[in-house]
Amino acid sequence: MAFLLPELPYPKDALEPYISSRTLDFHHGKHHNAYVTNLNKLIEGTELEKESLEDIIKYSFGNPEKTGIFNNAAQVWNHTFYWYCMKKHGGGAPPKKILQLLEKNFGGFDQFKNAFKTAASTQFGSGWAWLVKDNDKLDIMKTANAGTPIAQGIKPLLTIDVWEHAYYLDFQNRRPDYIDNFIQFLLNWDFVLKNLQE
Ligand code: MN
Repeated sequence: MAFLLPELPYPKDALEPYISSRTLDFHHGKHHNAYVTNLNKLIEGTELEKESLEDIIKYSFGNPEKTGIFNNAAQVWNHTFYWYCMKKHGGGAPPKKILQLLEKNFGGFDQFKNAFKTAASTQFGSGWAWLVKDNDKLDIMKTANAGTPIAQGIKPLLTIDVWEHAYYLDFQNRRPDYIDNFIQFLLNWDFVLKNLQE
């Protein structure tokens, strides 16, 4: 059973003016789609065809002979997760339960925003920044290229894609502006809460 490109959870223009429908056309329709197509080609006719995406990621992680499989599988997973991290009229203050956890783990909402923004803006080259739950502690992570916390059994709560393809059409080289707009206007706290409660 081949993997399918999941649909976006909102119309293509839902994130405008911060992320354009043109960006989502390329990012979802071309980039995410290519990871799905490549993964299907790489696992076709192998025993991995029967495995879940998460199991394929864990199995191929750190195996130099399976780099292509890991990169494409992890990028399929990361992008599907990323779409849900944004919504129309997102941003603003998090729900009380999350706010309390941000205060406990980072010292406050502003401190969390600064730490998340620093991770996202200092990831050199392509990659991702994350809010994760590791045991009972919330933490910020950044991963290069296709890297994903789930490969190491760490639970992601939130991510931002900082590959240039995520923001270049709308922000060109201004990655910090993309990150600010993501936090202020797009961040889907309902999704973060849902992940926290799973
Ligand atoms: Mn991407």
